[in-house]
Amino acid sequence: MARSNQGASASVNVVETQKHLLKSDVLYQYILETSVYPREPECLKELRELTANHPWSVIAIPAYEGQFLMLLLKLINAKKTIEIGVFTGYSLLCTALALPPDGKVIAIDINRESYDLGRPIIEKAGVAHRIDFRESPALPILDELIQNEEMLESFDYAFVDADKDNSVNYYKRLLRLVKIGGLICFDNTLWWGSVAEPPNAMMSEQGRSNREYIIELNKALAADKRIELSQLPIGDGLTLCRRIS
Ligand code: SAM
Ligand code: CA
Repeated sequence: MARSNQGASASVNVVETQKHLLKSDVLYQYILETSVYPREPECLKELRELTANHPWSVIAIPAYEGQFLMLLLKLINAKKTIEIGVFTGYSLLCTALALPPDGKVIAIDINRESYDLGRPIIEKAGVAHRIDFRESPALPILDELIQNEEMLESFDYAFVDADKDNSVNYYKRLLRLVKIGGLICFDNTLWWGSVAEPPNAMMSEQGRSNREYIIELNKALAADKRIELSQLPIGDGLTLCRRIS
């Protein structure tokens, strides 16, 4: 899909320009340089720079989204959390840093290889003990958690950023695991703006099928009275769902 490069400055990293839906790359760079990078903890900067050398670096959340999620986690006093989709661990490290010393995050990814790249930085940051990493498809792990009564309605926060075809399946399970007042956050819910494009717009086959899954998720969330909802145009679209019943 064509994306506007309007106002791009020479200093803007090409991959970074793919991580926002703002009016211009210059505006995005302004946010990063004014409010995000000067406040970014050294360990997150190191992990972001390491991830930038990965061929799939574009799939990590952008630093301004990480900064927002960290603030959000602190605002809700999150202590027990779940992360689906780890990659090199940028969003995971944001979560782990924002938790209190006895906080915990169950982090699930089908592939450990990328996480292993970021893990030394997470260990050096002193928060690895808050992370329970599970190398597995996420659905069986969530199903296993649901079997344990102590886990039901016990989580404060979940961040979902993995295979989009399973988003609705993750949502059904997370609604049982997250407590009333807890948050379930879905990443990429605007899919580079394609959710509002005509179905025949130019995009890859994979992009098109993900678009369909995301449209299906967005409809399901909007219709669900068990949650309060906020769709944010941060990153590639971030949806916050606060469980109310
Ligand atoms: N949140 C990460 C970050 O900010 O760096 C990015 C996650 S990346 C977009 C998606 C991840 O989901 C990949 O690392 C991939 O291996 C993982 N994944 C894909 N299918 C999965 C599944 N069925 N269960 C668990 N993880 C899966
Ligand atoms: Ca994402």
